[in-house]
Parts: sequence; structure tokens; C-alpha cells
Amino acid sequence: MRFICDAMLGKLAKYLRILGLDTVYIKNMNELTPYCSSDYQFFFTRRRLIKGNEPPQSPSPDPLPRRGEGMLLPRSKLWGIIRIDRVVFIISDKAMEQIREIQDIIRPYVDLKKAMTRCIKCNTPLAPIKKIDVEQYIPEFVFHQYETFSICPSCRNIYWEGSHTAHMARFAEEIFG
Ligand SMILES: [Zn+2]
Repeated sequence: MRFICDAMLGKLAKYLRILGLDTVYIKNMNELTPYCSSDYQFFFTRRRLIKGNEPPQSPSPDPLPRRGEGMLLPRSKLWGIIRIDRVVFIISDKAMEQIREIQDIIRPYVDLKKAMTRCIKCNTPLAPIKKIDVEQYIPEFVFHQYETFSICPSCRNIYWEGSHTAHMARFAEEIFG
């Protein structure tokens, strides 16, 4: 399953990647189209619908956000390219609360053994790399403190056990452990 976060949900996208979930971050709605050719995704957005522009025959009893003021969803940009029951309106503007809002949706796809195996910056699955090969790219104290490293094959960002936030790891364990 793939998760798509719109431009207002950058931090949520980062957290979903920490959880090991395949998460695309789009900066504008035009970037959404290539991802909408299958049923293989959820779309998270903080934009609310323009009143009177609700999708026809929505299977969801209440697709409108109940509170919060997001940006307006451009008319007809969404309907027809993504299934309405896969569009999830996020209410909170805080990432941790946003995860609580969607925890029942993402729970079936969360495997904590796969947490911290994906690049936070670009979503690419990480590859292991030998400690000796990262020495020149990381702070000296990190080199001495950690033994296991991985690298993003795409953007070459280097990760180690302490590079994903411990706070996030505890939070994930609390909700999904
Ligand atoms: Zn990367």
C-alpha cells in the first residue's frame, strides 16, 4: 500500500516513512495524477472541500472535515482520479495527532520490524553499508557511538540507529506495538 501526503502534510510524510510505510509527498495536485491509476493508495489531505462540490455518490457518510480550516480543494481536481473512500481529510495540524487520526487506516500496513528502513527525505528503501565506508561522511562521535549504518541508494543520505528520533520510535511502539 502506498500513502500520499499533500503539501500541507510534510511532517506526517516523514513520520510515515520512519514507520516504514511507502509514502509519497506531493507539492501540488498535478503531481497526484501518476499515483492514481490503481486502488493501491490512500491520499491524505488537509484541504477541505468547497461547499457544494462534494463528490457524487460518495460512499462515505461524512467526507467533510468537521472542524479546522484547510486550503480549499480545487474544484474537480480530485474526483475522478482517486477513489473518494481513499481520500482522508486530516483535521489536526500536528503530526503526532495526525497519526492518531489515521492510525486505524495505517495499522494493517505497519510492521515495526520495517520501521526505520526507508529514507526520510526521498522514500527509497535503505541499503546496509559498512561502518568503514561511512567514516568520512558522518560526525566523529557518531562513528564511535554506532556500529550499524545504512544508506539511501538514491540521495546518499546516511542513517544510523540514533538518526531517526527516539521520540518517534517510542510513539510508534505505543500505538502499534
Ligand atoms: Zn533518500
